Amino acid sequence: MPESAYDAIVVGAGPAGASAAIVMARAGLKVALLERGEYPGAKNVQGAVLYSRMLHEIVPDFWKLPDAPLERPIVEQKTCVTTEDSWLTFGYKSLKFLEGVPNCYTIIRARFDQWYAAQAEAAGAELFCGVTVREVIRKDGRVAGIKTSDNDELESSVVLACDGVNSLLAQKAGFIDELKPVEVALGAKEVIALDSGVIEDRFQLNAGEGSAMEMFGSISLGMLGYAFLYTNKESVSLGVGCRLCDYQARGIRPSDHLELVKRHPYIKKLISGGKILEYSSHLIPEGGMKSLPPLFADGFLVAGDAAQMTNPAFREGSNLAMTAGRLAGETVIEAKRKGDFSAAGLGGYAGKLKSSYVLPDMEEVSDLEQAVASSPEFMTFYPKLACDLAHLRYSVDGVPKREHLKRALKLLSRRGYWRMAKDLWPLRKAAL
Ligand SMILES: Cc1cc2nc3c(=O)[nH]c(=O)nc-3n(C[C@H](O)[C@H](O)[C@H](O)COP(=O)(O)OP(=O)(O)OC[C@H]3O[C@@H](n4cnc5c(N)ncnc54)[C@H](O)[C@@H]3O)c2cc1C
Repeated sequence: MPESAYDAIVVGAGPAGASAAIVMARAGLKVALLERGEYPGAKNVQGAVLYSRMLHEIVPDFWKLPDAPLERPIVEQKTCVTTEDSWLTFGYKSLKFLEGVPNCYTIIRARFDQWYAAQAEAAGAELFCGVTVREVIRKDGRVAGIKTSDNDELESSVVLACDGVNSLLAQKAGFIDELKPVEVALGAKEVIALDSGVIEDRFQLNAGEGSAMEMFGSISLGMLGYAFLYTNKESVSLGVGCRLCDYQARGIRPSDHLELVKRHPYIKKLISGGKILEYSSHLIPEGGMKSLPPLFADGFLVAGDAAQMTNPAFREGSNLAMTAGRLAGETVIEAKRKGDFSAAGLGGYAGKLKSSYVLPDMEEVSDLEQAVASSPEFMTFYPKLACDLAHLRYSVDGVPKREHLKRALKLLSRRGYWRMAKDLWPLRKAAL
């Protein structure tokens, strides 16, 4: 490790850290980007849907770059509600998603993170892999650098904690406690190889196009969570994610959960003949605004999963991390200009996050998870109700339609109209 001091040390070369490093290095700051993995992305897990707009703001027109490691642009987004033997799918497909800045792409994080960190290096940041940062060092009460697990010390004007969920740095800086099982979900996924033609046939896609689907209901075994299936170029990513406390309470491992998902008749058909290429699992911060740590201190900023910045209701995380990383980087550039890396000099970061979509969106869905968690019917009663109603609607059984309607109303009245209205009202926040 070099001895010289840096303007900024960024810990973690994920979406948050690489974004911050690119922005600062481009502005001429001396930046070190430290990553514990053997290479960026070596240990990172994501579904993975990448939202283009936020990356485009950092690497303009990235999808036109020949080396951008993108899998498929998503043209169709589907939701599937399951019981053991039935499923109801609804979705939206539009070629408009490909126009202008394409809406989103599937990616493989191991490839993407290496490419993204290379953009930071090309901008002038120094990337060091295989470096685990153990704690921050303080001078005169302010964060003044980091110490690695090999006891190397590196000084800087500011340290950016972009080290992901359960951030050791944010803990050492006294910003957060160790996360509680109720504040995190545990996600697990497999990448399953399939020929591109098979993918396009099974998912009814034109060549090169992709789809993303989330599944709710029996598929989560009554736990608060979901399963997902995304198409890559020559593989699909199939995964699950449920609250850690639910897995613990049920004594189920995510890998076993995933095996059960693979046996659902709908999924079984979609992945049939596929070869498992990899399995990975990772925590997802879901504490929302209630778990948001302080965002800055003297010589210190936190961004991305390290600051709990996700929007699970909309399957967003990497985009919040990129935007927060960019805004943290811009804050440091201003602090350098002013020569003030104190909390006062870095405080503009919180305002920038409030003026962006990051904190407003987190605020908007802050009570949603609790509302859904307090009605277990969301995972059991409602999916069955939806499938039962669909079954009635599509059954031609010689029974008069008026009788079908009566049966449907009886099904609906089981939970009580008032209770249903109360249950469903909080979901409006996940609608648009
Ligand atoms: C199963 C699953 C599915 C998901 N699906 C989606 C999706 O489809 N779309 C989406 O937008 N988001 C999704 N997310 C969320 C998304 O992955 C995260 O929000 C995003 O990766 C956060 O980026 P980050 O840079 O803050 O953290 P990370 O991506 O976790 O990066 C942190 C980096 O810091 C490094 N690091 C950690 N500790 C240290 C240390 N002490 N020293 C040095 N380096 C360290 C890590 O190795 C890592 O490279 C998903 C998450 C999971 C687990």
